[in-house]
This record gives sequence, C-alpha cells and structure tokens, in this order.
Amino acid sequence: MEELAHSHSPARRPEPAGWELWRLPTRAVVLVLVVEAGALAMVITHLGLAAPEAFTGEVFGLAAFLTLLSVVHTELATGIERIRRRAAETSYFDLSSVWTFAAALLLPPALAAAVIGAVYLHLWHRVWRPAKVPLHRHVYTTATVVLAAGAAHAGVEWAGGLPDGPDDVAGVAGIAVAVLLYVVVNTLLVAGVIALTSEWRGVRALVGRLDDNALEVATLCMGGLAAVAIGATPWLVALVLPPILVLHRAVLVRHLEEAASTDAKTGLLNSAAWQAEAGRAVQRAQRGRGTAAVLILDLDHFKLVNDAHGHLAGDDVLAAVAAELRAGVREGDIVGRFGGEEFVVLLADLPQGALGRAEVRAVAERLRRLVSELDVPVCTPDGDLTITGLSVSVGGAAVPTDGATLEQVLKVADANLYAAKRDGRNLVRLPGPVQIPAPRTATG
Ligand code: GH3
Ligand code: MG
Ligand code: MG
Repeated sequence: MEELAHSHSPARRPEPAGWELWRLPTRAVVLVLVVEAGALAMVITHLGLAAPEAFTGEVFGLAAFLTLLSVVHTELATGIERIRRRAAETSYFDLSSVWTFAAALLLPPALAAAVIGAVYLHLWHRVWRPAKVPLHRHVYTTATVVLAAGAAHAGVEWAGGLPDGPDDVAGVAGIAVAVLLYVVVNTLLVAGVIALTSEWRGVRALVGRLDDNALEVATLCMGGLAAVAIGATPWLVALVLPPILVLHRAVLVRHLEEAASTDAKTGLLNSAAWQAEAGRAVQRAQRGRGTAAVLILDLDHFKLVNDAHGHLAGDDVLAAVAAELRAGVREGDIVGRFGGEEFVVLLADLPQGALGRAEVRAVAERLRRLVSELDVPVCTPDGDLTITGLSVSVGGAAVPTDGATLEQVLKVADANLYAAKRDGRNLVRLPGPVQIPAPRTATG
C-alpha cells in the first residue's frame, strides 16, 4: 500500500522521533536497523583487515573516476530517472548499479562502499528526494547495495580476481558469480522489508517483475564489462555510457506506457486499459469455451463522503477501496477504475456451469463485505479521523451465458448494478439461472 502511505504522511519532522521509519511495523524496523548495522560492520571489518598498501593513489583515483562517471550518468539521465521513479513507486532498480558493481569488482570493499555512499548521496539529491521517496527507504537501499557489493567482491575474489588474459575462464565465471550474488543479496533484502511492511500480494510484488530483474542483470553485466575495460584501458569506459543511456530511454518508454494505462488516484488500470485487457480475457474465454465474469461496483452514497470530509479524503477512500478490491481477487483477475466511484473486475478462468456461477457470487459477496468492513484513516481539515460504514453495490454478468462480447456483459452487469441500487444498496445482483420458456402448447 505504498501510495496510501504517501498520501497520509503528515509533514515530516526533522528530528529522529518524527522519522517515518518508526511508523513501519516493528519487525520491519528491526530488519532495517540490522541490515544497516550489518553494512556498517562489513565496511569497518574490511577497513580493519585491509593492508594499508591496498589503498594506493591509483585505487583512490579509480574510486573517484567511478563516482564521477556515475554523477555524469545521473546528470545526463536525471530527467529520465525522475519520471521513471514516479511511474514505478515500488521499483527499486536503477541503472547506477553499472558503476557501483564496477566499483565492487575493482576496489577494496571499504572503498567500494565509499563510492556507493557518494553515488547514492548524489542520486538522493537529484532523483529520489524530488520524487518524495522517504529518506529511510533510500538509506536502506544504500545499505543493501553495500552488502550486495561486498558479496559480489567476495565472488570475484573466490574466482581468483577479474579476468586478466585471453584464457581466463575462471575470471569470467567469477564475474557471473558476482552478478548472481549481487542480485540475490539485493533482492532478498528488499523483498524481506516489503514482506514485513505490506500485506501478502504474491511473489511478484516481493521480487519485482521479470523484465525489471532482467534489466538489473543486464546493467550488472555492463558493470562487469566496464570493470574489465577500466582495468585494461580506462578510457574504454566512454563506450559504456552511450548504451547505458539508451537503455535508460528504453526503460522510460515502457514505464510511460504503464503510466498511460494506470489510474493515478488508485493505481488500478484505467477504463481504456481495463476494457482492452478484459476484452482479451473475454475472447480467450470464448475460444477456450471457458467462463469469465464481469462485476461493476459502485460506492453507495459516495457524494456524502465528499460532502462530509472533502474531496481529498474521498480520494483516499477510493484508493483504499481499490487496494481492497485488488487484494480480494486472484492475481489473474483484472481490476480497473471505470470512472468516478465505479470499479470493474473481470474474473477470468472460471469453472463452467453452476460451479462458476457460485464462484462469481462468492467473489462479489466477498468484495462487498470487504468494502463494508473497511476502515480508512484520512487527514481532513478538522484533523485525522477514520472513515467507516462504507458500502458498495455490485452488479455482475458472465460470458457466455449473459453475452458473447465484453460490451454485452457490461450492459447486463450495469443493469444488475441498477437493480442492486434500487433494492436498497450494499447488495449483489447477478443474473438468475437462465429462464427456459415453457414450451407452447397447441392451445396456449
Ligand atoms: P449512489 O449510491 O447512488 O451511487 O450515490 P453516489 O453519491 O455514490 O452517486 P453519485 O453519482 O450521485 O455521486 C458520485 C460521487 O462521486 C460524486 C462525485 O463527486 C464523486 N466522485 C467521482 N469521482 C471522484 C473522485 O475522483 N474523487 C472524489 N473524491 N470523488 C469523486
Ligand atoms: Mg456512480
Ligand atoms: Mg455511487
């Protein structure tokens, strides 16, 4: 419920007692503090263990060079990255890992941590603070990257260092192991804190999407190449920057596509995107002779919520209802905001016949109940309060019994929604069993 956490956060106070971190569940706070202390401990241990000769002028020069490259990269890409973070609030990947990973491979861990610290401080000022990411999240991300970099460094050490000759297969394997360790450590730590702060929304919500992870791996591979290139001929790195910037642009296009199909207030699909996806699901149901169903849900007397608490509180209610609907159906079901205070759900891959009808009713009743039990904390001009007593009317219809196309079933579902409103609201109305007209008799 990232978006809710944002809209409810009152003005942040600078002193530790007011930190947003303390508003996380205790288990999450413990994990955050342990990981941050672990990163610090790792740096201090490496500093203690490292031979002073390891910190040559050349090594410091390399650290400064990598930091500079990251700053240049971020400056060139700032516009791109800022929009990207807004589009994907929970996405924790950024392409700066090409430099932090190169630092992990090339530098002693303590110095790599210093590079990471500098890179992330710069990113904070240029990208994440303007995007209103809470500071504690950024500090945690930095700590996870320090630990991931430490693991990556250990991977390369284990393989005997970076490749240094045409036959050095072990060195190449070392980089591959380092990529794996970096991704695993980072993913586990980020997934851990997401798991402890939000309700279970499936594995994908924890570990991110496949293509985001593929992007991260691609970035790290580029970082590995950059590390080897810098080790041989530092200026070769000029050839890394252009592909990284182009990769950035490609990512932006995908995120803008996503933003264009998302309703900003609720994070659900907007009406056009929902119709497109639901239309495809209906066609699939038709082709596979399966069943799908559509539910239209309209909040009851929502105007009164706005009138009593203001439109901003109303918006918070819409976001909370949206989250509840999303959480109340399966991952493959398609949830959208139809408009105003109306939502639509497409239930896919239902069993045929009476079993399917029973499932539609069960889901519709569950969603109706979830909304009626919802408590929404809101900030109003009169102070913080909790809105309760919400309700929703639900109309439904199924493919193919009530229509062959999305448009046809939506019409039936809408008529049923009106019936639910007419019959008193806070009700579910679905088409009854198909009425088979009695055969006419000769006299009838
Ligand atoms: P009914 O039970 O008949 O559905 O009553 P209702 O008050 O929910 O329905 P009506 O259509 O009269 O009013 C819908 C209200 O939804 C009015 C409008 O201000 C509000 N609304 C629509 N979109 C938004 C929005 O994005 N934010 C807020 N806060 N309110 C919205
Ligand atoms: Mg309405
Ligand atoms: Mg309404």
